[in-house]
Amino acid sequence: MWTDSHAHLDMEDFTNDRDTVIQRAGEKHVIHIITVGVDLKSSRAAVNLAEQYPSVYAAIGLHPHEAKGFDEDTLEKIAALSTNHKVVAWGEIGLDYYHNYCPPKEQKKAFEAQLDVAKNLHLPVIIHDRDAHEDVLTILKKFGKSERIGVIHCYSGDLGLARDLMDLGFFLSIPGTVTYKNAGPIKTVASKMPLERMLLETDAPFLSPLPYRGKRNEPAHVAITGKEVARLRNMDPEQLATITTKNARFLFGIPDQP
Ligand SMILES: [Zn+2]
Ligand SMILES: [Zn+2]
Repeated sequence: MWTDSHAHLDMEDFTNDRDTVIQRAGEKHVIHIITVGVDLKSSRAAVNLAEQYPSVYAAIGLHPHEAKGFDEDTLEKIAALSTNHKVVAWGEIGLDYYHNYCPPKEQKKAFEAQLDVAKNLHLPVIIHDRDAHEDVLTILKKFGKSERIGVIHCYSGDLGLARDLMDLGFFLSIPGTVTYKNAGPIKTVASKMPLERMLLETDAPFLSPLPYRGKRNEPAHVAITGKEVARLRNMDPEQLATITTKNARFLFGIPDQP
């Protein structure tokens, strides 16, 4: 019973075979998929998909790449989607200094405003942090600590940062990059972090695990990532699946039976 805590099922990559992809995830025992919005249009699409498929839940928000399109009107329109019962999180939001499609100042403004909205709506947040560890941590510290606060998706920091984020209440989500030989600190983080704070994700259609690296990713592949994490921790993959799915249900408030 795996959970893919982060995918982009609305993206064009899935236009021709979305049904098959979601069905294949089910066949690989991926019972929950969170499909994540990056702007108003994709947030709407995420909600539509969640309404269509019992295993799919939606997150709504404005990605740091889209921070230029940020204004009160867009924010209100996205927030209006939160009344749908299958909306389980606000995201993805955060900072991306790798691509830097928007100036950091604009990214920060959009990030902080959305943290406030998420808090008012009592929704956990899904955080995107690419090469922006220090500023993300500073902003999240200001935002404060709570139990179902959110998840750092595609976690890419080291164990020290992991501890600081977990102190604030955050879960950390491990992506398919953990299967790569040049994976950096993620293998260490995945093998040492406390299991009760771990989620797994694909970030599909991106970041395929081995042996699919470079090809389109899909939610079924979260099982491959999970098996690698289980191998690193010398534990039974089924047990890891159970724990990480339980974590996702707790964080996103997903009932046991979809
Ligand atoms: Zn992201
Ligand atoms: Zn994403």
